[in-house]
This record gives sequence, C-alpha cells and structure tokens, in this order.
Amino acid sequence: MNNNEQAAKIIKDMLKSDKIPGAFIFEGDSMFEDILARAIVCSDSDYKKNHGEACGICESCAKAIKNIHPDIIISEPDGEGSLSFHIDKVRDIISGLYLAPNESDKKVYIIKDMQNMTPQGQNALLKSIEEPPPFAVFIITVTSSDLILETVKSRAVRFVPDSGKESAKKDAPPIYGDLIRGILTFGENPDKLAVYQKLFSGGLEKADKTEILKFYSYLENTLRDIMVAKIFMSYENDGDMKKLVNLYSIKKILNLSKKIHKYKADLEYNINIRLNLTSFLSSLNT
Ligand SMILES: [Zn+2]
Repeated sequence: MNNNEQAAKIIKDMLKSDKIPGAFIFEGDSMFEDILARAIVCSDSDYKKNHGEACGICESCAKAIKNIHPDIIISEPDGEGSLSFHIDKVRDIISGLYLAPNESDKKVYIIKDMQNMTPQGQNALLKSIEEPPPFAVFIITVTSSDLILETVKSRAVRFVPDSGKESAKKDAPPIYGDLIRGILTFGENPDKLAVYQKLFSGGLEKADKTEILKFYSYLENTLRDIMVAKIFMSYENDGDMKKLVNLYSIKKILNLSKKIHKYKADLEYNINIRLNLTSFLSSLNT
C-alpha cells in the first residue's frame, strides 16, 4: 500500500468508527481535504458507518458538493506569496470557533496553503488547533510541513504524499526495531544500561549526521504509528504496539515528538553525535 492508499484507508476507518481527531495536516498535492470535509458534514451516519465516506445524496452532501455548505469554512491566503495569509483571517476563525455548527453535527475549517501564513497567525491559531471545541475539525493543507511551525505540526494527525521524504521508516535497518522499542520504553525499563549499550554498540555513535537524523525520523514515524493506532484502536493483533499504545498518552507522544525535533535541530549545529544521543537518552528519564 502506498501512502495515499494508506491515508485513504485510515480516513475511512476513522469515519466508520466516528472517531475524528480535531486537526489534520495534508502535505503536498492532496484531494483528501475536500473528501474528508464532505464526509464529516454528511448527515447519513449509517452510510458513513458502513462505507467510511460521504453518502453523496443527502442535503448536506449536495450543499458540500456545490461548495455552499455553511459548516465548511474555507480560509486561504490573499495572494501567492509567502506571508500572504494574514493574522486577520485567523482572528476571524477564532472569533467564530465556539459558535455551534449551523446544520451538521460538526463544522470543518479548511485552512489552505498554511505555508504562507505568518508565524503570528500560526501562533494565534495554535491553541484552537490544540483544543478545538468538540464539534470543530481543522483540515490544514501545506506544500511541506517543514514550512510551518513545529508546534502546529505536532498537534495534528499528519499525512504525507507518496513522494514525500518520510521514507526513513522503510529504509531503516532492522537493528533499529529493537532499539526504538528500548527507547520508547526507556522511562519504565529497569535495565537502562542495556538500552545505553544497545545504542552505542549498534555502531550508531560512529554513524554520520544523516544516519542519526534518519534514526530520529524513524523514531518520529513510530510515534506517529502509535498515535494512529491509539486513535483508531488498530492494535489488537500487535502485542508490541498494544503495549506502546497503553504506555503513551497523546500528550506524551506530542511531548516526545517535540523533544526529538529539538535534538534533530541541535544535531544540525552540534557535530558531537555521542553527546547528542546521550543527552537525548537521559532526557527520556524525565
Ligand atoms: Zn451525505
């Protein structure tokens, strides 16, 4: 399954189970934002439960298809350039956010081309994305999530297109599997020394920066898998994943993602890989 097929499957499962997170980010060229928005406002919940998509014929769907559904609110930049997405538009969103939906159970904010939103705008939006009212869903599109604030990125369920660079997971050598598990259970592991040894006997300390960045990306991807498994409860047949899902609250996942991001950034400036890894590992104790 490629990334788009995988994204489609995840979205369908989510609609079937009616477990819809408060914020999504779609990177690159994606048509999912419209499909998802229409499905969220579709009023035929039985159809959704069975098919994981919009029915296409109810009154809500008819309006959504004509782009006149009052609970699908689209916000986009004024022009093409960077910083063309001004904070006033964000203020408009925030001021109406807590008003109940007009017709559907939920209302959807589609925020297009967030890479052009000013940092002030992104910061202003942050709290709304983090804790939207239960009836609001944010769907953000961006050319690349490298172009938006990490704080925004870490608060949404993110999908990347096939040509995206999140292929680190597939490329990761098998040795990382054990290590990743060791690291993700580090706080609870009575034998911390063994994890240290595994980390440093795996040759990772001799690896170059690119390799370590890849390793961190692999860790990030695994966290994302945990998040997805947690939200969609899709871990029944996977003992390891079940353990991780129980161990990790969403808050804990987001905190560790933030931490990894910091260590990745530090690595860009600090060539001492050993220090970077040791200090990352120590930070997992807290
Ligand atoms: Zn419908």
